[in-house]
Amino acid sequence: MRPQILFPLFADTDVLAGVGPKVAQNLEKLGAKHVLDLLFMMPNSLVDRRSRPGVANAIDGQIASFEVEVEDHAPPPRRGLPYRVRVHDDTGFLTLAWFHGRPDYLMRQLPPGEKRIVSGKVERFSGDIQMLHPDYIVSPQNADEIPAIEPVYPMTQGLAAKTLRKAIVGALERAPELEEWIDPGLLLAEQGWPAWREALMALHQPTDLHVLDEDSPSRCRLAYDELLSRQLALALVRAHRRAKPGLALTGDGRKVQAILDAAPFTPTGAQVRVFAEIEADMAIPERMMRLLQGDVGSGKTFVAALAATRAVEAGGQCALMAPTEILARQHAHSLAPLLEAAGLKLGILTGRDKGKDRARILDQLKSGKIDVICGTHALFQEGVEFHNLALVIIDEQHRFGVSDRLRLTQKGARPDLLVMTATPIPRTLALAVYGDMDLSKLDEKPPGRTPVTTRVMPLDRLEDVISRIGKLIHDGGRAYWVCPLVEESDKVDLAAAEDRYHDLKARFGNCIGLIHGRLPAHEKERLSQAFKNGDIQILVATTVVEVGMDVPEASVMVIEQAERFGLAQLHQLRGRVGRSSQASACLLLYKPPLSETARKRLETLRNTDDGFLIAETDWKLRGMGDLLGMRQSGLPRNRFARLERDTDLLEIANTQARLIAQTDPDLTGKRGAALRQLLYLFEQDQAVRLLSSG
Ligand code: ADP
Ligand code: MG
Repeated sequence: MRPQILFPLFADTDVLAGVGPKVAQNLEKLGAKHVLDLLFMMPNSLVDRRSRPGVANAIDGQIASFEVEVEDHAPPPRRGLPYRVRVHDDTGFLTLAWFHGRPDYLMRQLPPGEKRIVSGKVERFSGDIQMLHPDYIVSPQNADEIPAIEPVYPMTQGLAAKTLRKAIVGALERAPELEEWIDPGLLLAEQGWPAWREALMALHQPTDLHVLDEDSPSRCRLAYDELLSRQLALALVRAHRRAKPGLALTGDGRKVQAILDAAPFTPTGAQVRVFAEIEADMAIPERMMRLLQGDVGSGKTFVAALAATRAVEAGGQCALMAPTEILARQHAHSLAPLLEAAGLKLGILTGRDKGKDRARILDQLKSGKIDVICGTHALFQEGVEFHNLALVIIDEQHRFGVSDRLRLTQKGARPDLLVMTATPIPRTLALAVYGDMDLSKLDEKPPGRTPVTTRVMPLDRLEDVISRIGKLIHDGGRAYWVCPLVEESDKVDLAAAEDRYHDLKARFGNCIGLIHGRLPAHEKERLSQAFKNGDIQILVATTVVEVGMDVPEASVMVIEQAERFGLAQLHQLRGRVGRSSQASACLLLYKPPLSETARKRLETLRNTDDGFLIAETDWKLRGMGDLLGMRQSGLPRNRFARLERDTDLLEIANTQARLIAQTDPDLTGKRGAALRQLLYLFEQDQAVRLLSSG
């Protein structure tokens, strides 16, 4: 239950003076449903209205305020011209102007002979000083209606800036003083951090032009609150998971050894290390919740095979869940020979399996005949029962957010959980998103791979590329040809890919294939199979090849209008080639002119193959959220914090949160009540629900 003191903040915005149903609707478009959302609306910028230069000294383009006397009104002489009002002060004349001004209204606002204070942006041209659509017109006795420093908020159609500001002032009035949740020691160290309510006041009724700056104490305080709330939620999830027993999975190692013997290669040092981490986690009677990060091609699947086998050795079953059907089948395909060698029975279950087939698989799962099952979300639907589910492996973590993890955690048998992601995540992000998990990193690639040569060239070299492709076809090679992501809309992307497909087909005939996201799964699978066995040599594609395609024979990756792709995405695409001992190339075609960021992105890609470095660079260049898949990852939208910059605050929040979760996991201690309020303020209700009392 939400504490009562917070009720006024969780009321709908229409409780505020000046907010009717219409305004409330517009506020909601800005993401403000509750009063609290208004408080947490960070201004974009500040306008300084303190300058009172006198009309004659006004600077072109500057915002200024003037105390003037109204002279006369001049309605527009013809349509399309503005309504003008001439005013003056001791220093000179000023023309106020309105397009579509309403004469009666303006006459009431500015009666000739009266004094007024006007504030707005000054324009000077050829001796004239003008103010188009003044922001404020008030009589001298109401001078304080013009804010000295005015916050500017995000706008939406149909919502006047003044209405929004007024609503926010109303929200401030409803904001209670709250007990401090920040550790006194930290507050002391961060001297100058105001209390929560004061910080909000400073933001919305600024007296200082620097209040929005990165290092402003008020912004820092609010950013820290935000980060702390999330870190605390994650830390509590983690603490509560640990408090309940999980499965202790051990075995005699014979089946694992069989897999190692059956593998056509020696595991890399990183694979050995990571499997040891997983093994140790599985062995203790706590629920494993581990994130395995490994660049494309780092050999995650093999680690998954080892972990799955370990679970079976311990007498349990393992479910491996992939985001798409094609990936699920691919996993099954690559796991099959290994698992068979260890005498394990493998099954597949996707949405496609219906009727008798499905019933048979469900039966075998329930009776324990199937040891390891690969599948999609279908694995966790109603009606799917396991004999003894001990380990869940989820591939491509970025599609599973914190709430998915919580759901899995709360479900039944408490199996161990291993999530694998090919998205290299910078440390800061990993902390922010996966603070409840333990991290393992596959930071070494299997040997025997030839580095991919990456070339960046303008689109007018297309002919060269095509003739190179011709030669490749002649030599029996394989290439991907990825078409630009034009509008992030399937339809438009597809048109571009179809054009290229027909174009190449006209030249090279039937060895060209086209694959895209709208194809049914079995068709995609047929195409990727044909590509694998060489019936198709050039696979024209939208970004569907990005996840999972594993065709070692492919040695060339062409990406058209590469400048339109994110860096991490390009890296993933490039990872589709260079999977064998033959020399591979990635050709990045761009359409000039390149923006500075695009140029840096392509350059980074050409210069390095280190996924973590690429992720960091991408993040810095594009800001967070654009990092491949991070948007779907459940990464919260921050209102005050900027993860790229607030790294220090995040580290502090992380340390504090873990400390709190350790010493007071039910938040019943001295600062407990205040911390609960913090969790509610930032909508971490899920975490509060974990707390045993209240
Ligand atoms: P990821 O899933 O991390 O992208 P995969 O597990 O698909 O990588 O591995 C890519 C390829 O490398 C596969 O063909 C796999 O058989 C091979 N591979 C995995 N581990 C090793 C290793 N230690 N030595 C050589 N090849 C390996
Ligand atoms: Mg993989």
